[in-house]
Amino acid sequence: LAQAQRRRFHMEAYPAGAIRIDANENPLGPCAAACTSISSMIAEGGRYDTDLTFKLAETFAAMEGLKSEYVMPYAGSSEPLHYTVLAFTSPEKPFVTADPGYEAGMRAADLKGAKVIKVPLTATHAHDVKAMVAADPNAGVIYICNPNNPTGTTTPHEDIAYALANKPKGSILLIDEAYIHFSDTTSSLDLVKADKDVIVLRTFSKIYGMAGIRCGFAIGRPDLLEKLQYFGMNAMPITAVAAATASLQDKDVVPQRKKLNAEIRSETFEWLTANNVTFIPSESNCFMMDTRRPGRDVMTAMAKQDVFIGRVWPVMPTWVRITVGTRAEMAKFQSAYKQVMNASNA
Ligand code: PLP
Repeated sequence: LAQAQRRRFHMEAYPAGAIRIDANENPLGPCAAACTSISSMIAEGGRYDTDLTFKLAETFAAMEGLKSEYVMPYAGSSEPLHYTVLAFTSPEKPFVTADPGYEAGMRAADLKGAKVIKVPLTATHAHDVKAMVAADPNAGVIYICNPNNPTGTTTPHEDIAYALANKPKGSILLIDEAYIHFSDTTSSLDLVKADKDVIVLRTFSKIYGMAGIRCGFAIGRPDLLEKLQYFGMNAMPITAVAAATASLQDKDVVPQRKKLNAEIRSETFEWLTANNVTFIPSESNCFMMDTRRPGRDVMTAMAKQDVFIGRVWPVMPTWVRITVGTRAEMAKFQSAYKQVMNASNA
């Protein structure tokens, strides 16, 4: 198992005080209103919840101008990501994704025995929608992560509309908007509203800081969402539902956190530029930088200083993904990276 996975499955713990900029988490955690609502909900934890889950879907739907039956809450977005791939791919219907891209969908496609077709990003690190829709005439799912993980780069809405207009018949577009709040890119929810063959994923794990609380949505036509239910239906954690609803109702959370992340990200980019480190300009809470040596070695050397940085994608072996942490965390990242580079240049 890769180091990051071992940690996730509790086979390897982080040392106390570790700088954790390896998993695109939000160091701020849940907002104050979410924390209050979690506390007030604990005593209700003996109940399966349905009413509050429905209210959460209604709250989000009203904010986005959707009908509530187009919004299906899950405990995070990983579940609906897997279920969508399981539902719409097969040994005859491949899964088309970007490279580098978020890998979870590929694993679900493997389980289903579906071919995985990886399409390189364009020169501007957008999804190459022309190549993606042309990749296989029997494609089942075309997965577009916007902004993309790991690059933090965006794909213009007109490209997504192009993909929709030109995709193989019978396929669906799966648009993963886990990081959309950090960027200025246009959401694809308008395509859901227009009843297209599109499922959009949202999560509370990123800007809302609820990765450990677990809440997300699949958003799509009810007949598409129904196909996911075959693979699993589960009660929502009542605390997650309450926290997600409170987070949506606090209108300051997204703009404040978006601004702070952008400030720390641009300060980090200034530092990288001043230190001649090549990076991919990102609009998200993570970015890729070129270490000019095997990225894995740099991850290991940084971990020795208790700074845990993110992963390497096989297609970019000298690049690592860094999560934008707090100012203090990024200062530690900078000093650790300098030491690692000086040591390996010595
Ligand atoms: N989609 C993308 C692009 C991600 O990066 C992640 C997590 O890192 C997820 C989905 C799944 O997150 P969660 O299940 O916490 O919503």
